[in-house]
Order: sequence, then C-alpha cells, then structure tokens
Amino acid sequence: MSKQLYDLGDRPPLGEVPEKMHAWLIRADRFGLPTEAFQKEVVNTPSIADDEVLVLVMAAGINYNNVWAALGFPVNVIGARNKAGEPEDFHIGGSDASGIVYAVGKDVTNVKVGDEVVMHCGQWSRNCEWVKNGGDPMYSPSFKIWGYETNYGSFAQFTRVQGHQCMPKPKHMSWEESAAYTLVAATAWRMLHGWGANSIKKGDVALIWGGAGGLGSMAIQIAKAVGATSVAMVSGEDKFDYCMKLGAKGCINRNDFDHWGMLPHWKDNVGYAKWLKGVRSFGAKIWEVLGEKRAPNLVFEHPGESTIPSSIFVCETGGMVVVCAGTSGYNATVDLRYLWMRQKRLQGSHFANAVQCNEMNQVALQGLIDPCMSRAFTYEELPIAHQLMHDNKHPHGNMSVLISATEFGLGASGKPSVTIVHPTLPKGDVHTTPHPYPMSTPLPDIAEGEAITIADDGTKVRDLMHRGIISCTPDDILGTVAKIMVDKEIHAVVVMDDQCKAVGVVSQTDMVLARQGRTPDQARSMRAAEIMTPGCATCDAEMLLSDAVSLMTGRRMHRLVVTENDLPVGVISMTDVVRKIIGE
Ligand code: NAP
Repeated sequence: MSKQLYDLGDRPPLGEVPEKMHAWLIRADRFGLPTEAFQKEVVNTPSIADDEVLVLVMAAGINYNNVWAALGFPVNVIGARNKAGEPEDFHIGGSDASGIVYAVGKDVTNVKVGDEVVMHCGQWSRNCEWVKNGGDPMYSPSFKIWGYETNYGSFAQFTRVQGHQCMPKPKHMSWEESAAYTLVAATAWRMLHGWGANSIKKGDVALIWGGAGGLGSMAIQIAKAVGATSVAMVSGEDKFDYCMKLGAKGCINRNDFDHWGMLPHWKDNVGYAKWLKGVRSFGAKIWEVLGEKRAPNLVFEHPGESTIPSSIFVCETGGMVVVCAGTSGYNATVDLRYLWMRQKRLQGSHFANAVQCNEMNQVALQGLIDPCMSRAFTYEELPIAHQLMHDNKHPHGNMSVLISATEFGLGASGKPSVTIVHPTLPKGDVHTTPHPYPMSTPLPDIAEGEAITIADDGTKVRDLMHRGIISCTPDDILGTVAKIMVDKEIHAVVVMDDQCKAVGVVSQTDMVLARQGRTPDQARSMRAAEIMTPGCATCDAEMLLSDAVSLMTGRRMHRLVVTENDLPVGVISMTDVVRKIIGE
C-alpha cells in the first residue's frame, strides 16, 4: 500500500483501501446546531463483512435525518449504537450517495471493484429469520436507515454499505445529481407501486400532495412513467409550472381552500356541513383540473393530520390513500363511514426494499427521473447545507454535496435512452412547516426493552372531586336540562335511570351540538337520551387523577361522573385539575 491517507479528490488506485480516511463527524460532546456539530476529522477506514461493500464516495445527498443526528435529538444515535454494542463514539451520517466500488465482501455478487454506483439507504440483517424466509425486509426488526441509524454513512471518503444497497449509477447524471434522488424516489416508488391491487397503473389518477417537494416531485415522475395522470397539490401558483414540467396534468393551490385540519365532530351538523362544502369544492376542483368527473384512485399522502380527512373523502371508491409521514401532525381523523362504505384503503408506507429500489432505479437509468437537484455544495459546505435545512432556508428540491468529486458537473459519461425536460425549480421557499421528528424515533411496542417511568404524586380522584350529583332523567327534554345547567351554574348534567344508575352525561358540548342545524324549538324538545354521551364517562373515586385525566382527554371530555361502589357520588372536571395546578 502506497499511502496511509489520501487527500480528498486524490483518488487511491482502484481497489486500494487506505488505512485512514477524511470524514465529517458528529460527536456527542458537540451535539447542537449543524455548523457546530459537524467537524472534519480523520478516522480509520471501516472494514467490511462478507455481505458488505466499501465505496469511495464521490457525492452525498443531504437529508433532514442528519440534522436530527447533529442535534442529538430526539434520538442520540451514537448513544443508541453504543448501547447496542457498537464501540465508535462518533457518527458519520449520510443516507444518499454516488461513488465507485473499492472493495467487496466474499458473498457480494451484484457489484465488483470499479463499478460506478448509487446507494439506497435500507439496511437489514441477512440473518433475520423473517428475511431468511423471504419476508419483505422492510418489515424486519433489523431494518435500519444507513447513515442515520447506522454509522459510516456517505459523509466520508469511504462508506460501508450492504451489497444490495448498490445500484448502477445513471451514466447521464453527474456525481452530485445521482447522489440526490434515491431516498425520495425509492420512498415514492414503494408508496405508488408497493401495494398490490391498489398500486399505480396506466390510466390511473393520482393526487400528489407537496408536488414541488422532495417526495412529490418524484411521485409525479413515477406516475407519468407508468402512464398515470397526476394532479399536484402545492401552496402557490409559482410551483405550477415546475410540477407540470415534471408531468402533472394540473395543479391545485391548497391555499384556495380552508377546510383543512381535523374533522369537525360528527354530531356537529353545521361544522360538518361546512367541512363537506369545503371538501366537495376541493373535489370539484380536482374534476376541473382533470377535465372529467373522476376521483383519484390513489392519493399520495405525507402532510397527515391536516389533509387526511380530505384525502380519504376525495379518494375513489376502492382506492387507496398511501401515507409515509405526518408533517402537519400525527393524529389524523378519519370519517370511518367513507372508509368502510366506499371500501377505501388507508395504507402506511416506509422507504422501500431492494427490489423496489432497483425497479425505481431502472426508470432513473432510462432517463425518466429527473433528480430535481436544487443545489450542490462543496465538501467544506456540508455543515452549512444542514444548517440551511435546520433553519428551513434550504431551496426546493434535493441537495447534495461533493465528497471525492473535485468539481461540480463531473461523472456524466453517457446519454439517457429517454430525454425529458429538466424543470426549473421555483424560486420561493416551500419549507414553511417545521420538519417532524424522524420516524426512526423508536415507537413503543409490546417488547419495549426499558421500563417506562412515570412521575405521579399519587393524587386520587376523591381528593379533588365535587361531591353530589345534579341529574336529569333520560326522558327530560333539553329545555329542562338547559335550565338545570343555567340555574346550578354547572357544565354537565348526569343522566340517571329509574334504578339510580348513571347511564350518561349531557354536557354543554352535547347541548350546543344538538342546537347546531336545528331551530331552538326543535332542539328544546329533544330528549336527554338522544344527545347524551352514553354511560362510559365514569371513573371510580379511588382512580388516580392522572388516569382520570387520560380518560377525559382521550375521549375529548371535560368531566367524568365519579362512582363509589358503582353508585354515582360526584363529578371530577378539567377545571378541578386546573385549580390543582394553581394550588401546587
Ligand atoms: P419537502 O421537500 O419539505 O416537501 C414536503 C411538501 O409538503 C412541501 O413542499 C409542502 O408543499 C407540503 N406541505 C407542507 N405542509 C403541508 C400541509 N400542512 N398541507 C399540505 N401540504 C403541505 O419534504 P419531502 O422530502 O417531500 O418529505 C415529506 C415528508 O415525508 C417529510 O415529513 C419527510 O420526513 C417524510 N419522508 C418519509 C419517508 C419515509 O420513508 N417514511 C421518506 C422520505 C420523506 P406546498 O407548501 O407547496 O404545499
């Protein structure tokens, strides 16, 4: 071996792996803003296992996951790996790349030294029983995102990947362009192609959220490649041209509508009617853009909480809403009537397996996927690229950074079989919402390793409850119930049957919902039994206050009837809990 360490850009002879390499490292003692957390260091070049490949990185793609890695939040990726037995006290990030194969493990058959490759970011253990039995590796408990959950990602001279991660690099793309598309395009590919009978096909109509974003721009192109029609959702008309050049039939400005967000209560006639009006006019806009009265049989979702109700409504009977993120929030509301009566599918999707990544890459190799690279950075600027993302000041499209490539624009050596128009990226900044936590934040499951500790002062419901019950009968009319509420200055009345059992609660919310869409006389003459929230809203006086709070908030209620020996004896309300906070 001639040299222990090569300067960046000074490529070692093909197949010669130097002992040391240059890399951008994150260490726990400098977790924080990307410009501080990322530091240049020289480390040992990693060794590879039999199923692994060492690639000289020419360019790396930038993704938000390494902003989280830099912050050390919500997951300390270094600590998590140390706990799992890996010794390195640093993190080398990077989950997208292009490069040249320098070494292969003995079991690797798909690439050889010298191959020019791009890499997908899915890793899993080939020894996992599920994978060995032919199961989709995306369901394997060993699945990890390379360069975020694993070390030795692409922000270094050499990266360590599993053989299957390597795919042929499109010859018509530069190093930086080819490093930019794999993560988003493969995710979009599985969303559109991975779900059996609901997968996209020629003649389908797809509604694509965030059409000018990373995933959406890929989804439009993937839909076009299969002969489907797509309608792109965006937040401004400045993005229409971009989405149309990528292949969308038309675009809709989401700011022309205001019915987004969680569904109104299904008992709220007026709120629901307004929502229905909004979502119907949104549906009509889709028809207008399509030029025919067709509903999208595929909805490409990632905003989540604010858009899922509409996505499910406008989706064709038997169609699918496929979702890979909850950028606007995770508690999406669904009117189940549309889901079951019209037999729609709400499908979760996450990244892609190796087969799907390669299917996507075949389309990229033909020239049918523009990488939508907005900006490439030099090696020195890697922390700045992440800082721009952290500050939501990064440009549209996908960004990449040169690693061993010495100049921008190098690496393209051929022409694609199909030539598509390279779209001009819109100028405005789309990144108006904070990025959600990375989905690799461990989700609790049955096999949760660590005990969950909860601090609780042991306050019981009986310590705060109001004794005494103000009640009505199931047959009392609302006029009577309302009078009780007003006279006694209370927010809810317990409905008791003739056995003195609490069968429900009529709250102020129930009362005002009953008033919605009815005349005062109609509302007044309704019976308590018709509008009450039935029986479940009770808790025992011995229940922990914290459990009672979970009951109330989970059921969107403000109070519970308190029972002793199954008999109602009082009420505990949110106001009581707020009072306790003042007293603490
Ligand atoms: P991106 O480039 O930031 O684009 C997202 C687009 O969503 C934005 O351009 C914005 O477009 C739109 N948007 C934002 N808030 C919205 C709202 N409230 N309602 C409707 N549209 C909204 O991000 P991306 O790369 O496409 O990724 C999107 C999400 O998917 C992120 O949360 C990301 O973490 C996640 N993701 C998941 C996977 C996975 O494997 N599960 C993989 C990649 C990405 P307009 O403002 O123009 O509407």
